[in-house]
Amino acid sequence: MGPPGIEPESCSPAQEPPASPAPPAEEPEPSEAAPAPQQEAEGVPPVAQGSRPGGPGSKGQAKRCGAGKGSRGKRGSTRRAGEEGGRPARRAHVTVDSSKAKTSLEALKISLRQLRWKEFPFGRRLPCDIYWHGVSFHDNDIFSGQVNKFPGMTEMVRKITLSRAVRTMQDLFPEEYNFYPQSWILPEEFPLFVAEVRMMKESDPPWKPTFIVKPDGGCQGDGIYLIKDPSDIRLAGNLQSRPVVVQEYISKPLLIDKLKFDIRLYVLLKSLEPLEIYIAKDGLSRFCTEPYREPTLKNLHQVFMHLTNYSLNIHSGNFIHSDNVNTGSKRTFSSVLYRLSSKGVDIKKLWSDIISLVIKTVLALTPELKVYYQSDIPAGKPGPTCFQILGFDILLMKNLKPVLLEVNANPSMRIEHEQELSPGVFENVPSPVDEEIKVAVIRDTLRLMDPHKKKRKDNQSQLSENSSDTKDDLLEPGSTDQLEHDISKNPEASLPSLCLKQVFPKYAKQFNYLRLVDRMAALFIRFLGVKGTMKLGPTGFRTFIRNCKLSNSSFSMASVDILYIDITRRWNSMGLDQRESGMCLQAFVEAFFCLAQRRYKSLPLHEQVASLIDFCEYHLAILDEKRLVCSRGITERRAALVTCQPDGLHLTPATHAPLLNRMTAANKLTDYRNYRS
Ligand code: ADP
Repeated sequence: MGPPGIEPESCSPAQEPPASPAPPAEEPEPSEAAPAPQQEAEGVPPVAQGSRPGGPGSKGQAKRCGAGKGSRGKRGSTRRAGEEGGRPARRAHVTVDSSKAKTSLEALKISLRQLRWKEFPFGRRLPCDIYWHGVSFHDNDIFSGQVNKFPGMTEMVRKITLSRAVRTMQDLFPEEYNFYPQSWILPEEFPLFVAEVRMMKESDPPWKPTFIVKPDGGCQGDGIYLIKDPSDIRLAGNLQSRPVVVQEYISKPLLIDKLKFDIRLYVLLKSLEPLEIYIAKDGLSRFCTEPYREPTLKNLHQVFMHLTNYSLNIHSGNFIHSDNVNTGSKRTFSSVLYRLSSKGVDIKKLWSDIISLVIKTVLALTPELKVYYQSDIPAGKPGPTCFQILGFDILLMKNLKPVLLEVNANPSMRIEHEQELSPGVFENVPSPVDEEIKVAVIRDTLRLMDPHKKKRKDNQSQLSENSSDTKDDLLEPGSTDQLEHDISKNPEASLPSLCLKQVFPKYAKQFNYLRLVDRMAALFIRFLGVKGTMKLGPTGFRTFIRNCKLSNSSFSMASVDILYIDITRRWNSMGLDQRESGMCLQAFVEAFFCLAQRRYKSLPLHEQVASLIDFCEYHLAILDEKRLVCSRGITERRAALVTCQPDGLHLTPATHAPLLNRMTAANKLTDYRNYRS
């Protein structure tokens, strides 16, 4: 639909440009962009880093490897930031590898200049503190530091995967997840789509729906079209090879100047375990370029009226490039909010609804993201920590309800646009609106990830966590938090206050009850067995059933096998991921729902599932306790043996590690028992 897009907006892997070649293993070129006042001498520490805050199991782990191993640890112990033998020390610069930054390079360079950090535009032989990738986690092989992409994120936000993840949450919490339009995944759900639409039409004859068809993995409006009836689906274009998501079309959007617009909000997933989410206080609003009219058969094909994509509307003669953030076809979201507030709209409520939408969406994505994470960076193996800026596309309905359109793993961070000077002659010109928003997002993401500040920040988040216990109202735009305040006290005081606002764990209390799939994913990961896999084999599933005491006289192990085979076969036949055989997380969740429904018949689904999770966790905690007691016995016997050794053998710390883990499990069991009593 419409002309081909030109903006390198986020694309799924199918559209993504291939990763550029690996950086030369040459001595780094000093960055032109970051002429740091005190150049870091090679071999002088980039500052030791601690645990892996970005990944599951980050607490208490300190893993480094390769070139960084040893040298980093030593460096960290020999120098403390800000002090050296009683006199002020040179501040080591944070080092950033920008060799894979692609289209975000310009905004990144400006950010690094503002921060006075050291850029390595061609990569570096020694490890860098931060790696900035333009496409995915795998743009480069990294074993230490931090990288701005999570493994699996691109896959997770594809249209089909996102729809599935949200639908699972809709099954459990339909009211809470009604911010996502009703969707069907075709071709497999075509009969369901037809049947449901027929049923809805029969029960509500005046209902004249419109649907939007979006190819999976598409971006920039590519291949999108509107239909009025399921029979209008273009089946000719081989759905099997390019499946689509069909969605209820939101036909009454909020209009400004008679134009449809959407919101691009930037969200930082700072860490997966523990979950930390930040939202940028400002974003972009992208406007259509033809006045909006509700869809009719006559106007269905008018892209400039129905689709807000910048990459499409830029081709319209009506597109207005403006240096003013309050006007034009691309504006700041704050300017839209200002406009709405002047019309009496309750901005605080709107903003709070948007925050809820973002948190709930992230909660839908993170369980499977953890499966990807443990597969790419198994616990105990070296790896970088991850963070990621996501682009949330949100539409406001006429009644001001925010609706999630999609999530972009690689939101465009370009700060310039193409302008046609004369027919066929194009030039890249700066885009002040993009620069204002995007540079702030990148710069402040870096400030939050600053490895030098990590220690201090950990203390601060502890503080703000405590204070948030008493302050649990939803966010007020522009309000400051503890971290923001503290950062302004350090040498970065010349920088503006942080544009990113923590929303999780700040509001965790209001959303933690939604984390059922997260707890199911923890069970799933526990039984995956061999590290690095993403699918559960039949033995793993049987062990799960046995360890959680889920089989009994009315549910034999033979029935367990049948359940496994039925569900796994169906999910694998959908052809999503054929690389591995076995049960994927979504299939496990479906099996879990079946088990929960069998056991707790009369409850609503989310209560059935919550009860079964409690039941499983309880039995696993007992099992862990038994193993702990058992291993204590072994340890005591070993200790006796050690004392008997004439040459005085010592147990290595590695011998104690599993024991410590089990002790944690035993403590959990005690907590659980206290909670139940
Ligand atoms: P793409 O990744 O190709 O940009 P989107 O899902 O963002 O796909 O859809 C493109 C545009 O279509 C959106 O920016 C929005 O303007 C419009 N759109 C998408 N889904 C809906 C919907 N359910 N209702 C109304 N408009 C929609």
